Amino acid sequence: MIDLKSVASYLDAEYPALLAEDWDNIGLLVGDFSATVKTIMTCLTVTPEVCEESIVKKVNLIVSHHPFPFQAMKQITSQTVEGSMLLQLISHGIAVYSPHTAHDSAKDGVNRQLAAILNLTDVMPLNANGSGCIGNCRQNGILLSDLLQIIETRLGVCSYVGDINKSVNRIAIGCGVADEFVDKAVQQKADLLLLGEARFHTCLRAQSLRLALILTGHFASEHFAVKTLAQKITVQFPEISCFPSDSEQDVIKRYNYTLPCHK
Ligand SMILES: [Zn+2]
Repeated sequence: MIDLKSVASYLDAEYPALLAEDWDNIGLLVGDFSATVKTIMTCLTVTPEVCEESIVKKVNLIVSHHPFPFQAMKQITSQTVEGSMLLQLISHGIAVYSPHTAHDSAKDGVNRQLAAILNLTDVMPLNANGSGCIGNCRQNGILLSDLLQIIETRLGVCSYVGDINKSVNRIAIGCGVADEFVDKAVQQKADLLLLGEARFHTCLRAQSLRLALILTGHFASEHFAVKTLAQKITVQFPEISCFPSDSEQDVIKRYNYTLPCHK
């Protein structure tokens, strides 16, 4: 029998609070430390669909990349979506653990996994607090178009800023929202910053600094890591059934308009 305390301690050690941003809310956020854990589901975000799936699948612990709850709450009632979800989770004995920015920055975390997809070498943290990362391309002068193809194959359709024929030697990475990494990436001589999402004015600034951007979308930049997280937990606790949620989808859909056929 494995208790929640053992699983939470393992995750605390793998995703230490020291790596998390000051504003974050990480660790065990809902749960009874003495409860038995037989089934774990990983996900990007606790949504009503994920909450429902965890109840149907009799999950004991949700490991959600994004924190739930994130903001401080003064009431937990059925009058709000968050309150309803919390009441449901607690009544079904479902705990929630969130590693969030500690997971972004960990040695095998989300940003390092993105660096591995791009086949980077000499990967280092981008910032002194360990957030973001930067590394060199194994193939010198690889074209932005080739990198876009790699990312599209692995993570899905993405957007970019810059010249598609630009040759790239050094790449900075920040999953999720990473607007603030633009200046640091330029300081550290990156030719390209790969990130989940950025504001329009950040894109203009990057263009003016001759820094190319690849924008994968927030969901795509982090969701793949929910699967690797489930695999990692399974290796550590083979007696626990651990799987990624299959009800999660990107809330932002891409509209493909096809002209109607005229006879
Ligand atoms: Zn995120």
